[in-house]
Amino acid sequence: MTHSALPGQPFIAYQDGQLCVEGARVADLAREHSTPLFVYSKASMLAALAAYQKGFAGRKAQICYAMKANSSLSILKLFAQAGCGFDIVSGGELERVLAAGGSPAKIIFSGVGKTRAEMRRALEVGIQCFNVESEEELDVLSEVASSMGKVAPVSIRVNPNVDPKTHPYISTGLKGNKFGISHERTVPVYKHAASLKGLKVVGIDCHIGSQITTVAPYLDAMDRILDLVKAIEAAGIPIEHIDFGGGLGINYEGTQPPAADDLWQQLLAKLDARGFGQRHLMIEPGRSLVGNAGVCVTEVLYLKPGEQKNFCIVDAAMNDLPRPAMYQAFHSIVPVQPREGAQTTYEVVGPVCESGDWIGHDRDLNINSGDLLAVLSAGAYCMSMASNYNTRGRAAEVLVDGAKALLMRERETTQDQMLREKLV
Ligand SMILES: *Cc1c(COP(=O)(O)O)cnc(C)c1O
Repeated sequence: MTHSALPGQPFIAYQDGQLCVEGARVADLAREHSTPLFVYSKASMLAALAAYQKGFAGRKAQICYAMKANSSLSILKLFAQAGCGFDIVSGGELERVLAAGGSPAKIIFSGVGKTRAEMRRALEVGIQCFNVESEEELDVLSEVASSMGKVAPVSIRVNPNVDPKTHPYISTGLKGNKFGISHERTVPVYKHAASLKGLKVVGIDCHIGSQITTVAPYLDAMDRILDLVKAIEAAGIPIEHIDFGGGLGINYEGTQPPAADDLWQQLLAKLDARGFGQRHLMIEPGRSLVGNAGVCVTEVLYLKPGEQKNFCIVDAAMNDLPRPAMYQAFHSIVPVQPREGAQTTYEVVGPVCESGDWIGHDRDLNINSGDLLAVLSAGAYCMSMASNYNTRGRAAEVLVDGAKALLMRERETTQDQMLREKLV
């Protein structure tokens, strides 16, 4: 029996010429559930979480899964049972955590545009902390909490103005971004927060961007945040927890970001050196917990030779896999049952009527129509960003645990899509 794991993906491997997620054959899952189909490895998600847990062993640290990366209920349940809290960015995400059995006491609420209704609901269920992103939001939150006879726990998101060296659409800690409060305004804003009756200051947070592949931006951001903690505490406002956000990258295309435990070994050394090692730490990883755990399985519909390019038209599209169209992102694409012989270079594209609907450029593949392909590293920011564009139903999702595979989301039907519409 031959076995070869894919690079950076120990739970996804070819066994006897068949792509498998853990012990389940991808081709069997596609036959049973049809395509496009997302398949996730439970062991891969738990291993990614374990790397953080190992990094934080012996510390007061809390891992809040940034669920916008993948908010499917079964994945939330998995992380809740493994002890995670959640970083949410909407009232909808709050309801998802509650539906999956997550504890409100471990929820932190980020985002620049929280509505009063979202604040009220979060206060009603008793979340752990609001990560506030503007001065006006502080006033509104204090007013909402006071009107309910409550006090809202707050942390202020600070923009440390460091360049995470990632795609501009996913860098969030630079001066020109809409996120957080500037470095310079931090102390006066904390003083204002501390003066408001409806608020209790509990922490500070930052999040500098996503798909970060080096340690340096984290070290820079940490230095700046610790300087601010000193200044805020010198002003008489104690900071109970420090939240360093998420953003650690995954391997999409040969880039090898630091492992979570290595990253945190370096960051904790800095924290210790600066005397903050015993603080309550929080982090908000999203992509690095789920990204490499998922594949999107798709069938080749047509091969279309062209004058300049050969097209491989598959049944997954930008509505299922939005990252290439949105960020020019790269996903590896591999055959589910590789064939021997010569390869052809293809543009791998979906059926959506947009030239931006591509999944991979210049991919060398030996395929026939009817073959299955797997788009790798599709666990994060794929299903959670999926849309119904072109009236395409969202894909089904399967969770694999060893040799067991459970359908965790049924394919969306056209009836589902028309449910709330009226013919007027
Ligand atoms: C998106 C987001 C995260 C998670 O980012 P990843 O790159 O997926 O780790 C964490 N915190 C906040 C505030 C976010 O918006």
